[in-house]
Amino acid sequence: MAAFSLADIRARIAKFPRIELIHLPTPLRKLDALTAELGGPDIYIKRDDLTGLAFGGNKSRKLEFILADILEKKADTVITWGSLQSNWCLQTAAAARKYGVNPILVLFKSYDIPAGFDGNMLLERILDADLRIREARKGKVVTVEETIGLLNEIADEERKKGRRPYVVPVGGSMVAGDMTRPLGAVSYMNAFAEMLEQTRALGFVPDAIIHATGSGGTQGGLLLGTVALTEGCRVVGISVSDEKEIFSGWVREIAEAADKTMGLGLTIGRDDIIVLDDYMKDGYGIVNKNVAEVIRLIFRTEGIVLDPVYTSKAMVGLIDLVRKGFFKKGERVVFFHTGGTPALFPNRDTLLEYLK
Ligand SMILES: *Cc1c(COP(=O)(O)O)cnc(C)c1O
Repeated sequence: MAAFSLADIRARIAKFPRIELIHLPTPLRKLDALTAELGGPDIYIKRDDLTGLAFGGNKSRKLEFILADILEKKADTVITWGSLQSNWCLQTAAAARKYGVNPILVLFKSYDIPAGFDGNMLLERILDADLRIREARKGKVVTVEETIGLLNEIADEERKKGRRPYVVPVGGSMVAGDMTRPLGAVSYMNAFAEMLEQTRALGFVPDAIIHATGSGGTQGGLLLGTVALTEGCRVVGISVSDEKEIFSGWVREIAEAADKTMGLGLTIGRDDIIVLDDYMKDGYGIVNKNVAEVIRLIFRTEGIVLDPVYTSKAMVGLIDLVRKGFFKKGERVVFFHTGGTPALFPNRDTLLEYLK
């Protein structure tokens, strides 16, 4: 028996303030061609790239809860950060604009793509978001500790102008800034419940979920979902930026905070947290040959477009793990497509170079 029922988890999530931003449930489909090609487990895809806000993605699920918190606290300005082509920053700007909140985005240039107004930055310009570009270490995600001071300075400047700012951490994952509860993870626990309802209707509970992990909120929420609602469905996070030891700590912190805020009293075991760092290669945002080839493979076989920073690395991981027998024939694995496709365009030169 699972620790909680779907209805119980749903009822707890319904107590959080939330605005309607996206189209749910997102589709769940079997990837027949890829399943046949690999000859391993049955592979399904959860299309969180189709949430419908600004090209879609996992961040828009989080923002249904986070923007509700921003509005409840009567803030009129949201300040956050990410990489130059951050999907989080675009989604935040789009959600904020829709609700009359002013977006200030600190964008860290952590990899060598042209800083021109392309991909997510183009869309942010169209939204007339306030963009502040800064340098960062190559191939690394900028951490909360490194950034929160800078963000608080910007918040002080805004207060002096009579504004009411709200600082949200990158990815909407960690409890930091003005976000006092792990709302991103709560939204992904809800995503897990949504997916479970869909797979049960098809007659199964997945053996595993696999997805790209970046700031930990998605994995933290999915993981708590499996612990609450299943007996032994594994969540495999494919790191796109940092070593698994660092990452596992973040995921634990977020999952435990989500457990607490939802009053579940569950224990996250040591073995429950599975983060693999074998597929990030040269680090965050750096496109490699495997990435380019897997984007072509999935587009050609399934008509689905992956992104070059997150979902392609997770798909490289999935295919490798099937080939190594980590996922077995007869098992059912759900791949979460978490969005990010606007970042394809600023990476056009590298992608085409590898696909020559
Ligand atoms: C942010 C992001 C992720 C990672 O989600 P986290 O909750 O930050 O770990 C995965 N895929 C895409 C496309 C993203 O933008």
